[in-house]
Amino acid sequence: QVQRALLELTVSLETLQEVKGHMLEAMAKGLSQQTHAQATVHMLPTYVCSTPDGTEKGDVLVVELGHSHVRTLWVTLPGDGNQTLQLKDQLFELPEDIMQGKGEALFDFIAQCLCQFLDGAGLGDPQQRLPLGFVFPFSCRQTRLEQASEAARGHRRGVLRWRGAGADGRAVPPQGELLAWSKGFRCSDVEGHDVVQLLQAAINKQQRYHVNVVALMNNTVGTMMSCSMEGMPCEVGLVIDAGTNSCFMAEGCHVEMAEETSGRMCVNTEWGCFGDDGALSNVLTSYDQSVDQESHEPGHKRFEKLIGGLYLGEIVRHVLAKLAAEGALFSGAAAPALGTKDVLKTQQVLEIIDDETGLAAARSALQALGLAPSEQDCCHVQQLCRAVVTRAAGLCAAGLAAILSHMCQSRELERLKANVAVDGTVYRGHARFGEILQRITKLLAPECTVTLVPSVDGGGRGAAVVTAVALRLAAQRRELDQLLAPLRLSLADLQRVQALMRREMDLGLNQETNAQSSIRMLPTYVRNTPDGTGEGRDEGTGWRGCCSPAHTPCCLPAERGVFLALDLGGTNFRVLVVHVEQDGVHMASEIYAIPLAIMQGTGEALFDHIIDCITDFQQKQGLTGQVLPLGFTFSFPCQQLGLDKAVLLSWTKGFSASGCVGRDVVQMLREAAQRKQHSGLDVVAVVNDTVGTMMSCGYDDPSCEIGLIVGTGTNTCYMEEMKNVGTAEGDEGRMCINMEWGAFGDNGCLDDIFTDFDRMVDEKTINPGKQRWVRVAARRRSRVRGAGCAQRRLPAGRFEKLISGMYLGEIVRYILLALVERRILFRGKPSPKLQTRDIFQTKFLSTIEIDGLALRQVRGVLHELELDASFEDSVLVREVCQAVSLRAAQLCAAGLAAVAEKMRESRGLAQLAVTVGVDGTLYKMHPRFSQHLQRTLRDLAPKCFVTFLQSEDGSGKGAALVAAVHCRVAQAQGPQ
Ligand code: ADP
Ligand code: MG
Repeated sequence: QVQRALLELTVSLETLQEVKGHMLEAMAKGLSQQTHAQATVHMLPTYVCSTPDGTEKGDVLVVELGHSHVRTLWVTLPGDGNQTLQLKDQLFELPEDIMQGKGEALFDFIAQCLCQFLDGAGLGDPQQRLPLGFVFPFSCRQTRLEQASEAARGHRRGVLRWRGAGADGRAVPPQGELLAWSKGFRCSDVEGHDVVQLLQAAINKQQRYHVNVVALMNNTVGTMMSCSMEGMPCEVGLVIDAGTNSCFMAEGCHVEMAEETSGRMCVNTEWGCFGDDGALSNVLTSYDQSVDQESHEPGHKRFEKLIGGLYLGEIVRHVLAKLAAEGALFSGAAAPALGTKDVLKTQQVLEIIDDETGLAAARSALQALGLAPSEQDCCHVQQLCRAVVTRAAGLCAAGLAAILSHMCQSRELERLKANVAVDGTVYRGHARFGEILQRITKLLAPECTVTLVPSVDGGGRGAAVVTAVALRLAAQRRELDQLLAPLRLSLADLQRVQALMRREMDLGLNQETNAQSSIRMLPTYVRNTPDGTGEGRDEGTGWRGCCSPAHTPCCLPAERGVFLALDLGGTNFRVLVVHVEQDGVHMASEIYAIPLAIMQGTGEALFDHIIDCITDFQQKQGLTGQVLPLGFTFSFPCQQLGLDKAVLLSWTKGFSASGCVGRDVVQMLREAAQRKQHSGLDVVAVVNDTVGTMMSCGYDDPSCEIGLIVGTGTNTCYMEEMKNVGTAEGDEGRMCINMEWGAFGDNGCLDDIFTDFDRMVDEKTINPGKQRWVRVAARRRSRVRGAGCAQRRLPAGRFEKLISGMYLGEIVRYILLALVERRILFRGKPSPKLQTRDIFQTKFLSTIEIDGLALRQVRGVLHELELDASFEDSVLVREVCQAVSLRAAQLCAAGLAAVAEKMRESRGLAQLAVTVGVDGTLYKMHPRFSQHLQRTLRDLAPKCFVTFLQSEDGSGKGAALVAAVHCRVAQAQGPQ
């Protein structure tokens, strides 16, 4: 019979595996927003998002509400990395009537204890603000522990928040709504209320000390935070006390009940209720059913009732009672004492299982119950006690293994190394418990290497650490918000930028005021005709644009043939062959390197090199000897004098070939062809990449009348009414204007948007403070523009430096340097690697900002850069990236809003529907840029319905399409 009982209490490894599986399911249920309400394992967010890093420093108060006492502590953290903290504490007996009385009386009592403690210890300076952590070991629904930046939250939810919205920099107090009392407490008017607020109000009522409740936690969290092992924090807390519970650091994105998606958050599993839905049915014995029936809440906390200290003694008692009744123990004598609840304590069970003193302990425990045990009875009782404890430890291990496997999986690790902080009377009661726990966990979660770290005083010193971590994070948060505040633009800021852009556009289009504008507003001679018949054409160039909504469908299909295209001025120099056919556009291309010596050598050498590349390309494509029309995408600022005539205004992007500025680039190309005796070149059009992008998108979408580039640089073109273009002759129809908007702000009009970080980036670039524009004498109506011939000596490409791929990474790097300097990042350790210019490329922003990207991967990116980032560092870096890219997208939107609104106005429309053709790797690859751009644009230009169309190789295809349209028109006209 004893053997049978022992067998019943034995849980096989297989069954434990199943329990682990059920626990994993229950955890997943608790984490999910949808199933949370039905979950037995509640997985409550604690808003503890960081483990201690050793820099926590200062004095904190703790109040711990225990089963029968209130404990107050004053803890001083040294902040030097080791955990030797100083601690003073006091225990106050909690009268029974208070536990059952009014809620207000309970919190008044706690507040009085606190004041008495501070008075007595002579610690509290009534003038000083004291932070307090509240250990409240009941099930609470928490909402936040420390303030997350409003802007960052908005970013995560996909809502744009404007500067000033609720971010006053003060830490917001935590909130915790008591779900249900337990452990003998039954105070009225507390369930469903925020216990932090109740405590804070009670403390304030005393009018004695300035105490702020900054953290709320249960003792499991305190346990996890109270210890570390070999410098590695514990990421799991496990308590096996009267009851049992656990917590662990979960990936923020998995904690759906909290609106945090980045970083980690400690989740309080509340696993005591595991099995309340029947998941433990193949473990539960008749003894467990009896224990459950006699408990306060039958049917509840089934897992806890198999493990917790309140119950182990009871289980053993029921086993013994049954065996005694069957006559299997005590020589068949009756054992009436075993019928009384709680006569056998768990502490005694833990003493009985001891190898050396256990038998004696069994004897005295039984004798104390008025029994006369034989030697064999004692042996049997010891075996039974061991079975109950072994089972408890095994089940606990199954739960722990579930947590560890979950962590390992959700962090996408093959192996997890974790320190588990353990506390509680059952765990500490006998070494055997920990040994079994360790051994079974290892078997059930073989992919995890676990170290159990005995924790001391989780409710006290652990709570102090939690509180100090909360303070550290709040301080960091304040500093980060402060640092990023200048980058966070309000709606009003952006409206101002929009208005400025509009002003500069108007100035730039006007012949008289063009020189005052920071943007050039260059006519491109890409024309649009208004009549939709395909008849209109520009007399000056013989060119008829194909980009008006009315024209594209009727004119494009006619453009057939094979064309060559050159793309110079992007990241790569390319030669392309483009087949325009009925079924679409097909192309092949080749990238050619332009050696630095050629980029910065003579103009002749540069254009000779280009001809060599064309020759090579023609050979490779079998096009040698054919004369093909060529479109030239030349993405440098040019004064366009005709479709095939463009005078270079200045080099950018690292080019500085001599003798080119002020000359027609098509002419230079033709001269090189002559020098190289290449006779098959027919350059028919030269366009900027923005124009090429607009044209190539216009092929697919007739309403594409804006071209936008957000790649290495940024620029925009759009169709302007000729009557508004004072810098080109004619008043009829439209012309595409190449804004060269990268230079917006070079006249100082954006200076208040510029931050210190932007200035640092500006100062370190090739062209700070240098003139970007060289006025060209060879310009139409130069007599009128005499004044404009003077060179402008202004900082270059201000707008571009806030937006484009060449700079965003650098801005981030400077902000990170500032964070390191303020000891917020990398725990204040200097990071020489971060001093390296351009180490932080813009493509890293794209990777880091990917939605739901595991922090491990963010950290991986940073580690690749040899930046030794912790998880918290990764969260901060991500936030910096978000702020920088958000601002870039918003500013870009402000510019576009000015463009779209101007188009709408000059067409006299109440509403404008327009498509923007976009190219550029930053726009295309960044996970949020386009979304932010579009949303901001809607806010800034509500009367414009703007669609974005990504161009597929606009800078290559676009030039060929311009050439194609030109050829068709020229053919129709016949030889000129
Ligand atoms: P270009 O503008 O020179 O014609 P691209 O449009 O390809 O060429 O843009 C290249 C620039 O895009 C690079 O200089 C870099 O700053 C940026 N970039 C490259 N990869 C990414 C990425 N994954 N995410 C964001 N930006 C990127
Ligand atoms: Mg490009």
